[in-house]
Order: sequence, then C-alpha cells, then structure tokens
Amino acid sequence: MPERQRYSSLALEHAARPLLLLVQHLTGLDTTFLTRIDWNALTQQVILVEGPLHLPIEEGSVVNWSDSMCRVLFDANLSYSDSVPSTFPGSAGAALGMQTFFAIPVLSKGQTIGTLCGASTEPIHIQQHTLTSLKLIADAMAYQLALDQQMQLQQKRVKVAEKTIDKLYRQAQQMETLAHTDVLTGLDNRRAFQTKFEQYLLDAETHGTGLALMMIDIDEFKQLNDQHGHETGDLALQHLAQVLTAVARQSDIACRLGGDEFVLAATDTDAEGLMHLALRVQQEFKQRMLQSGLASSLSIGIASTAESALDQLLQRADQALYKAKALGRDRAERAG
Ligand code: GH3
Ligand code: MG
Repeated sequence: MPERQRYSSLALEHAARPLLLLVQHLTGLDTTFLTRIDWNALTQQVILVEGPLHLPIEEGSVVNWSDSMCRVLFDANLSYSDSVPSTFPGSAGAALGMQTFFAIPVLSKGQTIGTLCGASTEPIHIQQHTLTSLKLIADAMAYQLALDQQMQLQQKRVKVAEKTIDKLYRQAQQMETLAHTDVLTGLDNRRAFQTKFEQYLLDAETHGTGLALMMIDIDEFKQLNDQHGHETGDLALQHLAQVLTAVARQSDIACRLGGDEFVLAATDTDAEGLMHLALRVQQEFKQRMLQSGLASSLSIGIASTAESALDQLLQRADQALYKAKALGRDRAERAG
C-alpha cells in the first residue's frame, strides 16, 4: 500500500494528533483539525484531521483565506458558533453542513500561523472554561507548528537552489557546446578541431598509427553567394556538413575550419582510403546541390603520414588543395 501523503512533519504529527483527540474529548465535537496559514499566498491548508469523515475536511486541502471559515469567525470576533447555518448563512461552513464550528489561533511570536479547529454537524455548546483549555492546547501546538513551517521554508529554498544549480549546469553545458561547435553547420569548429587533432597527433606519435586528412573547399563559393544570395551559400555549407557527417566514422573529426573550408581527419586510414572517401564526398555534395537546383563542386587536398611529417599534415593537405584549385577545381589531389 502506498504511504499516506503527509502535510506535516512526523514530529508535528506525533505532538498534535493526541492533542486533537484531547480536543474532541473536551468539546464533544467529532471532527478536530489543525491548519496552517500562508499570509503571503493568503491561503489556509488543513494539515491534520482527527475524527470520522462526516464532514468533507481533508488533510492537504487548501482554501483561500477569504473563503476560510476561521476568517468568518475571527471577523465576527468569535471563537465558536453552534448555529453556523443561521449565524453565517452562505459561509463555507454552512455549505459543508457544519452546525458547530470553533477556531482558535495558533500563535508564534504574536503572529497567527495556523488554527486549531473543530466542527460538528450537531449543535454543541462549548463552555468558556473549555475555550480557555483550547487556547492552552493551541499554545502547546504552536512551537512544533512554527518549527514545521520553518522546515517547509528551508525545503522550498533547497528546491529553488537545486533548480538554479540545474539551470546553471545546463547553461554551462550549452556554452561549452557552443564554444566548440560551428553554429551554422553543427560541426566542430576550428577550436574543437585543434584540440582533437592535437590528441590524434599525440596518439599517432605514441602508437605509430596512420593518420590522414582531407582539406575541402567549395569551388567559386563567392560566386554562388553573389549569384544566389548569402542564404543559398549557407545552404551549400550545410549540405557539405551533412555529407561529411554522413561519411565520417565515429572516430573521424569532421570540422568547418571557417568560411567554405572544411577538414576531415581520420586515423587508421591512408591517402588511398581518403581518396575514395573524397570522391564520395564530391559526388554526394554535387548531388545534394543539384537537388536544390544548384551546380557546385568541391576541391580537395589530401595528406597522410605515409608521405608527410605529422606536424606538416595540415600544411601539406592545404598545398594539395591549392594544387587541385590550380589544376582546374572539382578534383581531389594528394600531397606528393
Ligand atoms: P575558390 O574556388 O578559389 O575557393 O573560390 P571561392 O569563391 O570559393 O573563394 P573563397 O574560398 O576565398 O571564398 C570564400 C567565400 O566564402 C567568401 C565569403 O563571402 C564566403 N563566406 C564565408 N563565410 C560564409 C558563411 O558563413 N556563409 C556564406 N554564405 N558565405 C560565407
Ligand atoms: Mg572556396
């Protein structure tokens, strides 16, 4: 069986339940209950109820202070009434079928923080000396209720703090992602490439693994921008990024270095392997551009550790790219 929902601390419950029973015993009212008032929200919540459920007073239920039966009594300068329907017609108590109702403020540092209440469907007279006893019982509950209230406040603060930390953490993650991502294409940016590529170089140096990379540049991109507009240019950049993402293996680095220049670095591959991949990239890019009604091509320069020193890979791929451009574009050239 699921545990009953609790609206007060266990300590308050242990202290207050026997007192609610005592109040039943003293007054003869069958339902007694304790409420908490939130003066900021102007609401009142029933936190503990004792007695058979003749009256629909439920633990956890919240009413606006303006609708509170306690407020009705306090405004009339009364502690109790045994003729609720006739004295307060139209009140919430009358609507709920209460004949008798009492409310004693529970005070902490002079402020009403809750009420000790009782209700009955029967008319029951409460004597003055009993009301005095009820005040004493309300005082006995006050300390624990105030403590309870403070605890709730602390819990709320902890929740707010947790939410704030969560938000800051997510923001930090977003910033971290943005710092390494090219916004237009979603690929790694130059900074991310540099960090990752340094690690690749280190691994290649340590383990002697082969490393190859291709430098890719869109042909006559400036012209594409000029003829079709900057947005079309952006679309071309996105097409190229999608092609690279599609062909790249998990371990490859695909990145937009800037402008219309991209790089794909792969471990355990030689220039031959990358040449095949380059041709695929060229074909798929062309196809995607054609589907968008555009004619465009790529020039690619390839370098690998087979013919180039590790620290010269980028430079050599760049030289190969230059060669591809010089030889008429729309081609892939290897560093030689
Ligand atoms: P080449 O064949 O020699 O590469 O000629 P090109 O016209 O492509 O020359 P280049 O690579 O120098 O041109 C780069 C152009 O890319 C110039 C610049 O206007 C454009 N560009 C740079 N960043 C962006 C961008 O984010 N979006 C768009 N649409 N254009 C960009
Ligand atoms: Mg270009």
